[in-house]
Amino acid sequence: MILVTGGAGYIGSHTLHQLVAQGEKAIALDNLYSGFRWAVPKEVELVVGDMGDPALTERLIRENKIDSVIHFAAHLEVEESTRNPLKYYRNNTLNTMNLIEVCYRTGVKHFIFSSTCAAYGTPKNTQVDETAPSHPESPYGRSKLLTEQILAEMENAANLAGHPAMRHVILRYFNVAGARVGGGLGQATPRATQLIKAAAEAARGKRAYLKIFGTDYPTPDGTCVRDYIHVDDLANAHLLALEYLRKGGNSDSFNCGYGKGYSVKEVTECMKKVSGMNFKVEETDRRPGDAVAIYANSTKIRSKLGWVPRFDQLDLICKTSYDWEIELETIKT
Ligand code: UDP
Repeated sequence: MILVTGGAGYIGSHTLHQLVAQGEKAIALDNLYSGFRWAVPKEVELVVGDMGDPALTERLIRENKIDSVIHFAAHLEVEESTRNPLKYYRNNTLNTMNLIEVCYRTGVKHFIFSSTCAAYGTPKNTQVDETAPSHPESPYGRSKLLTEQILAEMENAANLAGHPAMRHVILRYFNVAGARVGGGLGQATPRATQLIKAAAEAARGKRAYLKIFGTDYPTPDGTCVRDYIHVDDLANAHLLALEYLRKGGNSDSFNCGYGKGYSVKEVTECMKKVSGMNFKVEETDRRPGDAVAIYANSTKIRSKLGWVPRFDQLDLICKTSYDWEIELETIKT
């Protein structure tokens, strides 16, 4: 049985739907801070509670004989983390530390951790592989990097003591976006801050204009560059990571991105094109905490986990995101 924390959230729910489709048994733990009941597949029990509550997680893990944890639950906004760092360290690091401790106490075997390309910061070479140095530029990035280190240190300590170690996979997400092809599932966060979601909302008239944060960056068009990955390709990486750990794979980190960078202006134009809506754009100051330009070298996840992206097209990512904004109007959140 698999425990999926943050299973009612955006990436967690897409992953749960894929797990169910593969016949896996999972339970979702989510405090519904930014998740939604309706996003959890009906086959999956949703436990409403906090992943940082050791009494709750220990009971859940023991009662359900959990041997694998996929840990999504987290706060994820770079800019907010610069204003409220403790919120990030408390949830993404401290609460996760509690969860890891419980996993060790209960003998969980596998742990899949949602990390972020924000752990790299602005790299020297814009395309990064997993060996690139980590210089996070925000509390968000640091809160995730610390957890990566805790996982590795706990494994070392267990090995040194001759105790069974929990093996883990760290997935360093680049910029997740888009919604399920065919509809029915997508990101529902109110006042979301992510570029493609914000652009889809602007295209649909849900916000008056799209802000572009900074046009004076040292990039070809002056705006930041990111690697946008479709949510179902990212979700699939978790299934592959689980399979890898079950087959005895060693703990490891993998970049999750396509290996291509798009600027904020390119994404904006793409959203205008696929939606057919010429929404208003306002160029404003840089947003605190933003790295300049980064995209993935994803050779490792492709070769070691056999990851084959299915939705590697910016057009499709933007279109599914836009269509989802329309569908969301019919869903009671
Ligand atoms: N961005 C923007 N306008 C928005 C949201 C984001 O210009 O309304 C920019 C942001 O400054 C960054 C890029 O888009 O350069 C990606 O930001 P996002 O919040 O989507 O992801 P992040 O890279 O911060 O995790």
